[in-house]
Amino acid sequence: MYTMGIDIGSTATKGVILRDGNEIITTVKVNVGAGTSGSQRVLDGVLGQSGLAVGDIKYIVATGYGRNRFELADHQISELSCHTRGVSYLVPGVRTIIDIGGQDAKTIKVNNKGRMENFVMNEKCAAGTGRFLDVMAGVLETTVDQLGALSMLADQDMDISATCTVFAESEVISLLSNGVSIPNIVAAIHKSVAKRVCGLARRAGVEPLVVMTGGVAQNSGVARAIEKELNLPVTIPPNPQMTGALGAALLAYETLKEKEAVV
Ligand code: ADP
Repeated sequence: MYTMGIDIGSTATKGVILRDGNEIITTVKVNVGAGTSGSQRVLDGVLGQSGLAVGDIKYIVATGYGRNRFELADHQISELSCHTRGVSYLVPGVRTIIDIGGQDAKTIKVNNKGRMENFVMNEKCAAGTGRFLDVMAGVLETTVDQLGALSMLADQDMDISATCTVFAESEVISLLSNGVSIPNIVAAIHKSVAKRVCGLARRAGVEPLVVMTGGVAQNSGVARAIEKELNLPVTIPPNPQMTGALGAALLAYETLKEKEAVV
């Protein structure tokens, strides 16, 4: 039996097809989010790769910022629940999830049964989100997937003092024109994101095992800066940008099983 999870985020759309609630058949990501062709492209992608037809998928759960606009979904579930389910499946024993996406950052506290206990979210300000890193990568004439490796080359511990993305961008331009090396600037950018996100995490209460998820978890530089800031190791599951969609596919399977049990 096949189920699908689709995570229609602010900047990227992700899809996962599961067989029998435990085997990942296919995963697809496109770099456009809510309100775009992203959901149709992800659907076409997962069907094309798996060789399945829409009718073969027994239940679809949509999550993410654009979840209410996907008409094929049987059910919508919040990103908080889907990330919690996806991460608990991949990393049993997780107690704190730090999810950094394109436009927001969240910390979710998880209990010993793998269920969400509480959460704290920043959705008001781009600083401390993927958007901040996207803007900074643009100023530095690089791409977000290069930032982790660049920060490894840093040889100076520096700070970005501006907390607002627009002012931080001006500060980075001024550092560049003063001849500060790109790796040192990138490391300072990561530190600034880590400080923001860890402030949020501390409000939720940080307890090991800490797992980082969302697209920004692919940036090893941000992960290292968070470890330093929390003074705790941070686990990154494989394919961390997919955990919301995976959680949605798992919850799709579990919802279907519950419905079958009732009938
Ligand atoms: P959303 O669900 O809000 O669309 P995601 O969890 O998909 O957000 O994360 C999107 C963010 O992930 C982007 O803003 C970008 O900064 C970051 N990102 C995407 N791909 C990579 C990558 N390969 N390496 C580092 N960061 C990445």
